[in-house]
Amino acid sequence: MIIKPKVRGFICINAHPQGCAANVQEFIDYTKAQGTIENGPKNVLVLGCSTGYGLASRITAAFGSGAKTLGVCFEKPPTDRKTGSAGYYNTAAFHAQAEAAGLYAHTINGDAFSTACKEQVIAQLQKDMGKVDLIVYSLAAPRRTDPVTGEVYSSVLKPIGGDYTAKNLNTDTLKVSDVTVEAATQEEIAATVNVMGGADWELWIDALKQADLLAQGCQTVAYTYRGDKLTWPIYGHATIGKAKEDLDRAAGAIQASLAGVQGEARVAVLKALVTQASSAIPVMPLYLSILIKVMKEDGSDEGCIEQLQRLFTECLYTDAPRLDEQGRFRVDEKELDPAIQAKVEAIWPEVTEDNLFELTDFKGYQTEFLKLFGFGVQGVDYDAETSPLVEHNF
Ligand code: NAD
Repeated sequence: MIIKPKVRGFICINAHPQGCAANVQEFIDYTKAQGTIENGPKNVLVLGCSTGYGLASRITAAFGSGAKTLGVCFEKPPTDRKTGSAGYYNTAAFHAQAEAAGLYAHTINGDAFSTACKEQVIAQLQKDMGKVDLIVYSLAAPRRTDPVTGEVYSSVLKPIGGDYTAKNLNTDTLKVSDVTVEAATQEEIAATVNVMGGADWELWIDALKQADLLAQGCQTVAYTYRGDKLTWPIYGHATIGKAKEDLDRAAGAIQASLAGVQGEARVAVLKALVTQASSAIPVMPLYLSILIKVMKEDGSDEGCIEQLQRLFTECLYTDAPRLDEQGRFRVDEKELDPAIQAKVEAIWPEVTEDNLFELTDFKGYQTEFLKLFGFGVQGVDYDAETSPLVEHNF
């Protein structure tokens, strides 16, 4: 079939296998070019390993540090008539590259929130890898089935304490207009914390600890975003921000439970960038379109893989990690540089439909968005007949 992007709202419902493989290759090439990470991880579990920050974590561990990786993701395999999801193709490409490089890799495609998935991971570790020295928690999910009660919780992206009206870019119609997002109810806040907070991270570490699969001095890290004034009402001070606060709580609880292995649990604050998760957040596409322009002009723009390289070398595997007063790793310092934020804030009120392409880098945003699904990647022939099936399954 000829595979062209099918964009529906803020999601693209298909993906290009060769484009995704080229993206993975680009990430691997970048990581290899940075050289070996000194004292890096050797046995790594990545929860949410197939796209965005989790994929970048896996590649950095494997190709920057020669680590064995066990990944967990929730992705759609292809059929002969339908493409798989981007994360499926990314993972297939990662496996092909890892195999070629002689690096152990195993992926479990299932619901990371379930007890069955945790048991599967434990069995796989016992069989092949042994104790893990790094556990990355990089899940971004719209819902979670509580493994004990069976109740399904859905996360919402809503402000807290009152409705919020803000400028918004509809990435489909390119209309820039005010959007009002209704305040979340207490129930919605609690549900979002249940899905995106630290409860599942704690369950994972507890399960691994019970199975004696945590190496001496092991580290675990969960990802968050903080942002500044423009995104606070819809992120930091909103339902997702509440869930992320719960990660701080969980980090403390996990840290205490790791005392026996002298382990460490921290939250890592990463920069905003275009991923499948962030494109669903109101306000974010416009904020990102401006941010990309300002940071590119400043020469400080970074993607997932650059962020992860710095997380490993400047935070996780160094004697002098960059920590904030809450003990979180910070890799978002370039985005939050007051000079960068001031420029973004100055552009924000000026943007209209007519000047969208001059005042912002919406073109760059769109390019990044399509690239997530393997489209618009250099060197890929999008007019060629392409099988949605891939050779390397996992
Ligand atoms: P993403 O959508 O690219 O990746 C999400 C991953 O989670 C995928 O591998 C997916 O397969 C997996 N997943 C989802 N549901 C699952 C389930 N039930 N079981 C197993 N796997 C499941 O997201 P991302 O943007 O890379 O976000 C990862 C983390 O980084 C999130 O915690 C997010 O809040 C955080 N973060 C994102 C940004 C950003 O701007 N994108 C910034 C800072 C921090």
